[in-house]
Amino acid sequence: MADFDVPDFRPYPFVPELKPDAMKGKGPFIAKPVHQEPLGFPGELVDNWEEKAIEKMGDMLKKYRSFRVYLDTCVRCGACTDKCHYFIGTNDPKNMPVARQDLLRSVYRRYFTLAGKFFPKLVGARDLTRDVLDEWYNYYHQCSQCRRCSVFCPYGIDTADISMAAREIMDSIGHGQKYCNEIIAKVFKIGNNLGLPERALRDTLNGLEEDMEDDTGVAVKIPLDEKGVDVLLVTPSADFFAEPHIDGLMGYAKVFHQAGISWTVSSYASEAANFGLFIGSYENMRNISQRIRTAALELGVKRIIFGECGHAWRVAYSYLNTFAGPFDFLDPKYPVPQHICEFTYDLLQKNVLKIDKSANDDMVLTFHDSCNVARATRMGNFPGGQFVIPREVIKAVCNNYVDMPADTIHDQTFCCGGGGGLLTDDLMELRVKGALPRMEALKHVVEEHGVTHMAAICAICKSQFTKIIPYYGFQMDQIVSVHQLVSNAIVLDGGEV
Ligand code: SF4
Ligand code: SF4
Repeated sequence: MADFDVPDFRPYPFVPELKPDAMKGKGPFIAKPVHQEPLGFPGELVDNWEEKAIEKMGDMLKKYRSFRVYLDTCVRCGACTDKCHYFIGTNDPKNMPVARQDLLRSVYRRYFTLAGKFFPKLVGARDLTRDVLDEWYNYYHQCSQCRRCSVFCPYGIDTADISMAAREIMDSIGHGQKYCNEIIAKVFKIGNNLGLPERALRDTLNGLEEDMEDDTGVAVKIPLDEKGVDVLLVTPSADFFAEPHIDGLMGYAKVFHQAGISWTVSSYASEAANFGLFIGSYENMRNISQRIRTAALELGVKRIIFGECGHAWRVAYSYLNTFAGPFDFLDPKYPVPQHICEFTYDLLQKNVLKIDKSANDDMVLTFHDSCNVARATRMGNFPGGQFVIPREVIKAVCNNYVDMPADTIHDQTFCCGGGGGLLTDDLMELRVKGALPRMEALKHVVEEHGVTHMAAICAICKSQFTKIIPYYGFQMDQIVSVHQLVSNAIVLDGGEV
């Protein structure tokens, strides 16, 4: 089935064997000028790239204080070494978080510290050569920027930030990644990652409305570009076509319908995902975020709600107000932005929704905390809300729920293996191997507690899992959207269920 070795499940406790260079040269496809230029980057590697890269690093050191702190602070305690799913799955020592940081730290020392300038060998400093650039490209695209390692670092060093910085430097010298940059260009040109134009989007939504009416006997709508409604829903474009995402979208529609809250999707801002985060480009992140403001103003909505997407929620939660605010034209009664799980949870708390939990009795559920939601955001108005609220929504609509082992959930959750701009087929080996720890935790609850399905609230996690889960002996349809469970259980007024 795979032209690479799929890792075996590991015994416990496990001492990792090292396989130096196991993932050398296995980075993703490099962007071409057509992918680079629309983002404002040079089309290809510039002639004086060494000089330009060091110049860019210098600028960033001045601009981002955290960048210098992270590069200066590591004491090589080793606490992070075995915490990365890509190291666990590949055994390549350069996938240890500290080693990944050192790829860039060694160059920083050479050009920006006194010791590195005069005694490079003594302090592990090295020149920026073509080999070093190739190593950067390879291993900074084997980091999903999940931040798990930073949870265990006594200094809170964030390898994800260093990965983003490395990608930002590489983009600035014309050495970007095809997958991310091609997608960002599609958002600028068409409005979403898929390049789905308004007409195709409208046809898709009409088809979904027909399906819902056939299933329930109720005319549940998914409005597009409707002006003067209450809510603008910004959701990942995977929700419009992929499984199980689409079932989640139908769940949102049913919740809005039953709650009697008017809403719309926008064809202009038809994408919640913001790959500007993955390439560390604030400029591109801001340009994508601005589309949401424009759509909200044009449609005259009162609230903005985000659908199930992990990194989109991080960008929305942490940056939307800075990049696209102030949102003083929205109704101040509601948070800006709000997550669909917060929205549904609130309605469930107020008993606005009628639920028949038995509709999900054919499943025993577990929940995968998505990295960006777990370690970079919150939900609700209490600490840990990002862990509690999605679980409470699931438990409100399902009778059977079991958590995976404690050291694999909440802020210790393992990445699905496809985050951070790595959800591309040219990285399939990395994606399968990086999913090992999550698959082990799933196997545990399947065997010990009869779990049949794993729910997620991230478009990337859902796409990644449905693709890689068969490598570990599971079925694609064992992955579900949280709002798919809501969709199954919600009782619509006048409906057949
Ligand atoms: S941020 Fe995640 S993927 Fe990157 S090194 Fe840390 S644990 Fe690994
Ligand atoms: S845990 Fe932090 S200080 Fe320790 S080796 Fe890793 S990055 Fe360095």
